[in-house]
Amino acid sequence: MSKAVLITGGSRGIGRATALAAARRGWSVAINYVRDAQAAEATASEARALGVQAVVLQADVALESDVLALFDASEAALGPLSGVVINSGIVAPSSRLADMSFDRLKRMFDLNVMGAFLCAREAARRLTAGGSVVIVSSVAARLGSPDEYVDYAASKGALDTLTIGLAKELGPQGVRVNAVRPGLIETDIHASGGRPDRAQVLGAGVPLRRPGRAEEVADAIVWLLGDEASYVTGSLMDIAGGR
Ligand code: NAP
Repeated sequence: MSKAVLITGGSRGIGRATALAAARRGWSVAINYVRDAQAAEATASEARALGVQAVVLQADVALESDVLALFDASEAALGPLSGVVINSGIVAPSSRLADMSFDRLKRMFDLNVMGAFLCAREAARRLTAGGSVVIVSSVAARLGSPDEYVDYAASKGALDTLTIGLAKELGPQGVRVNAVRPGLIETDIHASGGRPDRAQVLGAGVPLRRPGRAEEVADAIVWLLGDEASYVTGSLMDIAGGR
């Protein structure tokens, strides 16, 4: 039986590219989404066409009951998980901290931090020796994102610390935990923050002089997931064109 990986937010963007990169390497994939069932089904069909099992599972990762049901349903469909990619995340429109509402701050931390912690906790409870967790952070964690979204940047800072701590907790039982920190990657997330051209415009200014593609992040995630990275844990891997 092929190894199984659950990818939160696996329907679009970096998560979609990760689901397909994993499928290409023979992983069966559980693809989580929250709203866009059509995109999730399309990604699952592409994965199945690569010859692996793929299931689509709706869950809001900010809700504990949804996260528990998501992990149960993944295991019921695909068997015990060997990999978990904690990828779901949001941004919000550019703003200075002084102008951010309580509701915005709460949503940002409920999803990006609490959602990731709930998924990491389930992974910690369920993965056994040889298992691997990859957390999708951001270079924003070290840049701070002033005048854009320090809330988002700080939510990713929490994920870096989660990665470092959980890697140390789970290392002795043979479970690895790593993070990728993407830079400016062309996905729909920028439009959701009100700036569809953000990656193109700002990407021109990074050392590699272009934005990244979701597939370039996915390749790193899948490498970290698999046995080729068997001695890598607690690492924060920047995939940001030198930004
Ligand atoms: P995206 O294209 O906007 O896709 C977001 C994915 O997350 C979708 O599959 C979406 O599902 C899912 N999602 C949203 N809210 C959710 C919730 N409450 N519960 C479960 N799933 C939820 O984003 P992306 O650019 O691929 O970003 C993926 C991750 O990379 C995020 O954590 C982001 O912070 C990080 N990142 C992105 C960039 C970048 O430049 N793109 C840079 C650094 C870090 P639906 O389709 O159902 O809405």
